Parts: sequence; C-alpha cells; structure tokens
Amino acid sequence: MKHFLHEIRSLSSSIQALLLALAITGTASPGVAQVGGTGTVIQKATEQFENSPLKTTSLGKDLFMFSGDGGDVTAIVDDGSTLLIDSGIDSRVSELSDAISKTTLRPVTRLVNTHWHFDHTGGNAFFGSEGVTIIAQENVKKRLSSAQDVPFIGLQDGPYPQQALPTVTYSSTMTLRQGSQQLTLVNYGPAHTDGDTVIYISPANVAVLGDIFSNHVYPIIDLASGGSIDGTCRPARLPQHAGASSAAHRELDCCREDNRSGSGRTTDQRLRRRMG
Ligand SMILES: [Zn+2]
Repeated sequence: MKHFLHEIRSLSSSIQALLLALAITGTASPGVAQVGGTGTVIQKATEQFENSPLKTTSLGKDLFMFSGDGGDVTAIVDDGSTLLIDSGIDSRVSELSDAISKTTLRPVTRLVNTHWHFDHTGGNAFFGSEGVTIIAQENVKKRLSSAQDVPFIGLQDGPYPQQALPTVTYSSTMTLRQGSQQLTLVNYGPAHTDGDTVIYISPANVAVLGDIFSNHVYPIIDLASGGSIDGTCRPARLPQHAGASSAAHRELDCCREDNRSGSGRTTDQRLRRRMG
C-alpha cells in the first residue's frame, strides 16, 4: 500500500487538548474523577469548544473535513449520499449536521467511528436515530454498550443508547466503496484504544488516523480502554510522508524507541505508571 498521503487529520481532539492541559498543569493523576475540579472531562470539552467556530476544509474532490468543534469529522460524497468518519461531540451535532448538509447537499447514510471516545462518537445517537448505518471495529460496540471508566483523565461515559451503537462491525479489516473512492478500514490491534480504525481512502490518497496519531505530542495511549504502544507505533510510520510537524516526528521516534527498548508488556507497564 502506498503511503504518500497528501492529507492527514490534524487530530486536535478534545481529549488530546485536555490531556495536554492536564499534563502542563500536572492535574492528571490516578483516580482523578473531576478535571480541574469544576466538571467532568466531557463537560470541560463541551465548555472548551462551545464557541469555537466550525471550519469546513476541502480535502479534494468529494472529500471534506469539519473541524473546530472538538472532534474532526471527514465526509466523503458520492452521487446520492454522504459517508461520515466520526460524529464529533454531542453538544454540537445539530450544527455539524447542518454544515454537512449545506456542504455536501446529500443525506448522510453511513458513519464510521475511528474509536469509542466521546469526541468521536458524541453525534452517534443523532445520526443513528435518523437511520444512518454506524460502522466500527467490534470493540467499539462493546465499549459503547457498557459503562466506561478512564481514571487518568477522569472520563466516565456510557452506556450509549441503542441508536448510537454500531450495527455493522468488523475485526481486522473491511472494505467500503463510496462513489469513486475505496475505503480500506484497518485495525492494528491495541493502539490508542483496543478498537481503533485507520481508514485509507483511495484514489483520493487520504488517510484518517483517528487518535492513533498526535501532531504535537507523544501519542496518547488509553490503557484503560485496552490501548497499547505496539499498535500505536505501527501506523505511526505513515506521517513520514504527510504533513506531520517536526514535534510529531520527534514524539513518534520516542514512541518507537520506547517500544524497541523493552517488550510491549514492559513498556505498557511503564506507561501505566506514567499515566496512572
Ligand atoms: Zn481518543
């Protein structure tokens, strides 16, 4: 598979932004139930992105990215429908849906989740209740179906309502077609979580990496959600040919060195200590 990608997601997601803030202020600690003492991580993300403008970016013919409201969303259109990748945060989903309709002029019929976190699945219930088919790696459905607890950032979420759950799941790889574009969905095993999907879109030459890739910081690995450094480093080779920042390259080198310096299990235990 060619890895010359002319576009990648910037991944300025709510969780990553909040983690950065927590790391800087030193408030990320084991067993933290509240972020900053004034609300949950979801409330904080909602407040943080409440007034940020929603930006639409063309990624080439028939591809668009919607960003700025907490979680980037990619749309791919064909003659009669729109396929979405991720659904943003719950509080902005109506605005997101309006922007998608105005831009693509076609109804959303399918939605692929890159992983279970709220800033990528917050709009699932909205789109699911409109009959949109939700597609994800099988562990996403398991996690959205039950209560989840990520102590090191104080995230407690779920279970999600029935209409928010994926109705089509896969294990390691799956192929979809949307008009002239082929979407290859790949799970590299435990990475950012235990249910990540990387989507390669061809011939557009676009890859959507979800939160496996961070453009400015060390990759975020959600150990409580089954994440692992092994899978994180595998797709992390991709940005060498894309628009990754020099900081991202440094952090990815760091990640790979951590992975080489010991067994995955040992490294994950070290990460667990670091992240709580
Ligand atoms: Zn995430």
